[in-house]
Amino acid sequence: MENFLNYPLSSLPGVGPRTRMLLKNLVGDSLQDLLFFFPHRLVERLYFPSIHAYLRSAHTLKEDTFITLIVRINQISRPTRKGGPIKVHVEDDTGSFDLMFFNSNFQYLQKKLMLFQDVLVSGRPTFYGKKFQINHPDYIGAPAALPDFRGSSPVYPLTAGLSNKVVASVTQTALKMAPDVDEWLRPELLQTRQWPSWKEALTTLHCPKPIDFLPTCPARQRLAYDELLAQQLTLLLSRTTSFTKSGLSTPASTRIPSFLKSLPFELTVCQTRVFKEISEDLSSSRRMLRLLQGDVGSGKTVVSFLAALQISDQNAQVAFLAPTEILAQQHFKTMSPWAESLGLSLDILSGSSSQRKHGKDVKNRLKEGVLSLVVGTHALLEDDVIFKDLRLVVVDEQHRFGVEQRLKLFKKGRHSDILAMSATPIPRTLQLVNFGDMGISVLHEKPKNRKPITTRVLPLNRIDDVINGITRILEKNQRIYWICPLIEESEKLDLTAAQERFLSLQHVFGEKVVGLLHGKMKSVEKENVMSSFARGDIQILVSTTVIEVGIDIKEASLMVIEHAERFGLSQLHQLRGRVGRGEDESSCLLLYAEGLSEIARSRLSILRETNDGFKIAEEDLRLRGSGDLLGVHQSGYDIFKVADLYEHKDLLEMAQKEARLIFEKDPHLLSEQGVKLRNLLSLFNRVHVLEYLTAG
Ligand code: ADP
Ligand code: MG
Repeated sequence: MENFLNYPLSSLPGVGPRTRMLLKNLVGDSLQDLLFFFPHRLVERLYFPSIHAYLRSAHTLKEDTFITLIVRINQISRPTRKGGPIKVHVEDDTGSFDLMFFNSNFQYLQKKLMLFQDVLVSGRPTFYGKKFQINHPDYIGAPAALPDFRGSSPVYPLTAGLSNKVVASVTQTALKMAPDVDEWLRPELLQTRQWPSWKEALTTLHCPKPIDFLPTCPARQRLAYDELLAQQLTLLLSRTTSFTKSGLSTPASTRIPSFLKSLPFELTVCQTRVFKEISEDLSSSRRMLRLLQGDVGSGKTVVSFLAALQISDQNAQVAFLAPTEILAQQHFKTMSPWAESLGLSLDILSGSSSQRKHGKDVKNRLKEGVLSLVVGTHALLEDDVIFKDLRLVVVDEQHRFGVEQRLKLFKKGRHSDILAMSATPIPRTLQLVNFGDMGISVLHEKPKNRKPITTRVLPLNRIDDVINGITRILEKNQRIYWICPLIEESEKLDLTAAQERFLSLQHVFGEKVVGLLHGKMKSVEKENVMSSFARGDIQILVSTTVIEVGIDIKEASLMVIEHAERFGLSQLHQLRGRVGRGEDESSCLLLYAEGLSEIARSRLSILRETNDGFKIAEEDLRLRGSGDLLGVHQSGYDIFKVADLYEHKDLLEMAQKEARLIFEKDPHLLSEQGVKLRNLLSLFNRVHVLEYLTAG
């Protein structure tokens, strides 16, 4: 079974290189990734025998009803301006309308669509007054396909270039080929809960009825439980195998008082207390596994550096793991002068190709032990990164990493301790999930010099007022972040939105003043833009959410977020935390599009009312619990594919108990059930733990 699920997508009949690439970007490269990529809603598709028949009942239909019509194509028109849509005019004996194609290839469409032929068209209509059109129809083709385009059908969250039809059919093929697995759950459990087998559960979620979208649906519960059990087992197995081995006791550094004196600020009472907790952990002979929680801007970096100083005083090594290149760069810059003043060697290791040569050198020095401190991205996890004596792993923005990733780095040291840091306060449930019982230190106050951030919520049509207000800020030589959101279905459109805003702001404020930052840029380019923004050469930075975490620029005093309704609560809080870091009064403007959903409305008002990250995190979990997919996806908590920690709290507790029982009876997973559970673990890519098991 394990084998089959790890097959690449190309092993499925009908998946060529292009589809494979698109699927890979969307779901991952293995059959298992595909099988665990589920539809997120159903659409109702109604067939109308004529355009007139549709128009007559259009006003009675639900807003997101899709329609199917059989029409004739009578004209295909090129875009009237560069970047404009291609228009395909279609008609029948009772009326006509347009199909619109954005960012599409004219020649391709012309070849594919035969003029004056009857075709079946299915998609979602949009109205402009009395006229309607269909943007990017889901299907244009032979009328014989009609049975496939009426009734309700599942919809997958898509990426540009992939049609729902392709994803659905590829998934069906994979499902048919999927093996029946040896049941790893106890039969009594399946029986009392009325849960289906693994394969039945997958099949149900791919061909769902409305009721199957409920968190209580047996198929969903079963798969969620599998996932939670795998995770809890991983946690137990890895902790007990690695943490019972004792750590080394590292005495407190005597150089700390003089280092603190050299800083331009004094530690807050909180920082001092939290560092004391960490320092005591390090000096005890137990291994440290501690979570340092502190809202954005509470000053975690300097605390982690103090911990690093304690370690490096013993000639041992410290690795700082950051989730993005930009963040790694920033840490490197922040810590460089500190390290220098103490005579400690510090360097950076990241995945960017510009650094390949440099990377080699860093790796050599890590191996020889002449480099004490290293900051890096995922590149630190690579197998060829070897430390002479790694004693402390600091994981910044830890919720961005999975248990396995943290373990991988941790395993590179014989005696390493872990300090995980998070700006998103983690609700208790999630702490249990991710760490079991670990030590937790909280920075609950911010440095005193911070001014509160004023948050305002405005409709998008006030954007001109916002732009007018910017001049005043520019005159004071302050900086502005301008965030354009990720558009769910298409990365391409997402980029276009940011690019267009960039150009329009350049038009108003001048080319030199405005910069652009997005995920598709090379990391050197990103670094360049970020550093000109930090220097003030650029004063307005238009960006997609790539700047979301950790960036620290004191002169930034205004954060504008377009389409704030599309972001998760915690994410908005994170973004807002990019301003208000210096002496200036700062504000955050949340611009929303009309037609706000109830949930989006409450999200925005919570932000306006409070700046308290803990409160926001709790509200986030509560609101996301009410089925708000967007929030889940963007909050950084989406470590699970099926389980929803809010809805499946009871399952989490069950899984915790079960994992403990299993572990007590069969710590190496060698019994009959144990062997089946190994399958479960490999299904969820928990292979690192299996390595532990075999290594003893
Ligand atoms: P975060 O907890 O969000 O990672 P940082 O560690 O990036 O926060 O700190 C934010 C800013 O606050 C940095 O510029 C840092 O130098 C500054 N800072 C940290 N501690 C203090 C303090 N005690 N007083 C004043 N400024 C501080
Ligand atoms: Mg930080």
